[in-house]
Amino acid sequence: MADLAERPLHHLPAHEVVLLLESDPDKGLTSEEAGRRLERFGPNVLPKFRRHGPLVRFLLQFHHPLIYVLLAAAAITAVLGEWVDAGVIFGVVLVNAMVGFIQESRAEKALDALVSMMKTEATVRRDGRRTKIPSAQIVPGDVVLLESGDKVPADLRLVAVRELRIDESALTGESVPVEKADLVLAPETVVADRRNMAFSGTLVAYGQGRGVAVGTGAATELGRIHQLIGETTEIATPLTKKLAYFSKVLTAAILGLAAVTFLLGLWRGQNPAEIFMAAVALAVGAIPEGLPAAVTITLAIGVSRMAQRHAVIRKLPAVETLGSTTVICSDKTGTLTKNEMTVQAILAGDRTFDIEGAGYEPAGEIREVGRQSSTVNREEVARQAVTVGSHVPLDTALCELLTAGALCNDAQLVEQEGRWTIVGDPTEGALLVAAKKAGIDPGQAGERFPRIDAIPFESERQYMATLHRGDSGREAVIYLKGAVEKTLRLCDRMLTAEGSEGALDAPSVLGQTDAYAGRGLRVLAFARKSAPADRATLSDRDVEEGLTFLGLQAMMDPPRPEAIAAVRACRTAGIAVKMITGDHALTARAVAAQVGLDGRKRPENGELVAMTGQELAATPPEALADAADNTAVFARVSPEQKLRLVEALQARAHVVAMTGDGVNDAPALKQADIGVAMGLGGTEVAKEAADMVLTDDNFASIEAAVEEGRCVFDNLTKFIVWTLPTNMGEGLVLLTAIAAGSVLPILPVQILWINMTTAVALGLMLAFEPKEPGIMRRPPRDPGQPILTGVLVERIVLVALLMLAGAYGVFLWEQQRALSIEAARTAAVNVFVMVELFYLFNCRSLDHSMFHVGVFSNPWIWRGVAAMVGLQLLLTYVPVMNRLFHTVPIDGTAWLLIVTISVLVYLIVGFEKRLRRWWLQAPPERPTVAQP
Ligand code: ATP
Repeated sequence: MADLAERPLHHLPAHEVVLLLESDPDKGLTSEEAGRRLERFGPNVLPKFRRHGPLVRFLLQFHHPLIYVLLAAAAITAVLGEWVDAGVIFGVVLVNAMVGFIQESRAEKALDALVSMMKTEATVRRDGRRTKIPSAQIVPGDVVLLESGDKVPADLRLVAVRELRIDESALTGESVPVEKADLVLAPETVVADRRNMAFSGTLVAYGQGRGVAVGTGAATELGRIHQLIGETTEIATPLTKKLAYFSKVLTAAILGLAAVTFLLGLWRGQNPAEIFMAAVALAVGAIPEGLPAAVTITLAIGVSRMAQRHAVIRKLPAVETLGSTTVICSDKTGTLTKNEMTVQAILAGDRTFDIEGAGYEPAGEIREVGRQSSTVNREEVARQAVTVGSHVPLDTALCELLTAGALCNDAQLVEQEGRWTIVGDPTEGALLVAAKKAGIDPGQAGERFPRIDAIPFESERQYMATLHRGDSGREAVIYLKGAVEKTLRLCDRMLTAEGSEGALDAPSVLGQTDAYAGRGLRVLAFARKSAPADRATLSDRDVEEGLTFLGLQAMMDPPRPEAIAAVRACRTAGIAVKMITGDHALTARAVAAQVGLDGRKRPENGELVAMTGQELAATPPEALADAADNTAVFARVSPEQKLRLVEALQARAHVVAMTGDGVNDAPALKQADIGVAMGLGGTEVAKEAADMVLTDDNFASIEAAVEEGRCVFDNLTKFIVWTLPTNMGEGLVLLTAIAAGSVLPILPVQILWINMTTAVALGLMLAFEPKEPGIMRRPPRDPGQPILTGVLVERIVLVALLMLAGAYGVFLWEQQRALSIEAARTAAVNVFVMVELFYLFNCRSLDHSMFHVGVFSNPWIWRGVAAMVGLQLLLTYVPVMNRLFHTVPIDGTAWLLIVTISVLVYLIVGFEKRLRRWWLQAPPERPTVAQP
């Protein structure tokens, strides 16, 4: 294969490029050749790029104001000759940096795993066949097929295009899609103007195309840019940013306070070394240094839990927003329903038929409605099918209708070990099954009337059409299928049951459509038109008028049972669910009723009101918010209207999650607070625009993600409520001692010990807390509400005061027992740790006791508790630790006191929660029960 690096490929005709690449524009590469090239060129992925290597990332751990303070303190302590203290402080800083580094790497890994879950696929021609392969396996020379919604998987020289328009904003910043063409361009043409090329990472906005891969992986334009700017995995959300800011301000304030304390002490003539140590202790104790790391870890754990439940987060802030979601706007097909279609009823000519059978197995009778014993004779239909499209008058429309369904179709029906499945769109798969039930073989029909060209289905167009060569040189025939209203507009006559063409009876067709849709069936209309035998292409203009209506096929798509449960769960969680679908209003309404949606109802019969796209368009802007807020079902909605709906709901201060799969859903997905794309059925464009991608396209996964989102927020709050009292308590103890001019009850190195060990062994375990029972029985969190409500602030202050009283009290009491000052300090340190340990159990639920969430529901808590107890015993009884941390062994009496205080704190907080629950539940004025 020639070296392409220096060749201006856009300047060569397409066939020369193909030649250079030793490929075949029609057949593509062979699998063996592709395998060889994969070895030679490597996978089609961008090289992993980290802005910082591990060493720099480790060093960055020291880049915090508090660490500077600690390092300065260590240096000054060393100058003062306190080598052990200096060493301990330095050691703690080092350990802290290591823990931070590991945690950060873990969080990043969890997020990286998401990236690898989001592997994209591409359609290529290999061995003469159209196949889907992971984009990573594309090699130079591969013939890649593009269609609207795809992400271009490699740099391609286009060999054929059909109204192909590509959004290259990711590469060039140009937001208007570029119209592509198979041209030969001047050598100096810049990348943005190379209209005969498609570039990796750009998105197909419209049309179709075929191109040969000329560059993969790092050898693409995207790869070049990627190397220039690198890639950042930022672990930040509005909340983490807010907390980081809070931490910064707090740090500055506490450093100020420490400085003032130091100066005040000097002014009062205290020993400079001692008062310096006191100021350092204050700074170390009062700054919640574990907070940012805990937040990151909690978010990362939430993200991987969501991924396990089929919701892959693409943008981290979504984790937070999910917990506040108030409205979920969902597609119908495949999300609320199973997307397993079965044709159940047919209108052909003026006759209606029922079809038996479920699933994709082509077994079941077709029975004419109203006639007792009139099943369709398969042999008869098969015989007639031979004449399809040949303009020999057919004596039945049914056969032509089913053949139209089989030919105007991109799906395939496959049997594997007796199991029938379909490849492609289930709507189309159902049509193949229906045809086969009547004895029409889609494969044979396709061979007899080969497809020459097609207009693919798109939601906006609402139809698909195909052009087929006629039998033995006869006229060609166009088949069209689509939404009923749309199709009828294109027809001016209809095929009668006997096969002659008669006047179109639109009202009766629409009546039958309503009858089917009212049963929740999805209705498709079919039509045909003949075309000159030499017609080679098909465009929208060819089917604008003059079609002959063939009939209707109505299919059942059962609701997903888990979606029904999820809708119910959303309802108790105060989240409104709305269905926004391209389907018929009556079908939508029937399905909505089946899955249990709740919204505006008709007063006369209590049925859900379904608003159509047309009605939406006619609704004045000022009335839209009201309509959007109160209506549960929106049918025949265009993607632009989805955007309007999101905006209208947001105007009502709703936090909106919106699903989408098509190219044109992208603006709505971006506008929504949480854009949700379908991982299986969605286009790459939609995924790119979304905040979250569902790997199973299931509504229940959105509800699961909301649940996890709420849990993340809960766990973050729990950590904050757990950690702040310690900082405050330590600060208060030190300030009290300084004010009283007494010796410090806890030393800086001891404070360092408390803060570092408890944060990792105890606090972090809260990130693993499972969801609280009833998490989906409370209303969504108001995003404007601060993390710490008044109640929580009060609790933090209460526990801080209890810590102050406990630690200071024990410190004084131990001294009174005429024990050493070291023993008194050791006891005080143990009070802090043990109170934190027992208070951790309180923090497992913000409103209830630990028994409400299950004593053993979070095994990590118990592991952490065991580790912490072990660490405290080491600190208290191991001689080395005694030397390093100025501790001494303490006696049983001291322990008894420490544990009693800790249990008391646990009970007091438990009582406080109970009191508040009682207060909240108590009606404002208790009704007095009349005594007889
Ligand atoms: P949702 O938006 O909930 O997924 P949907 O799948 O019904 O709903 P669209 O895909 O936009 O929405 O389909 C709109 C209409 O177009 C359908 O009601 C049907 O009449 C018609 N239609 C759907 N799929 C095809 C197809 N493959 N070929 C022709 N017409 C189709």
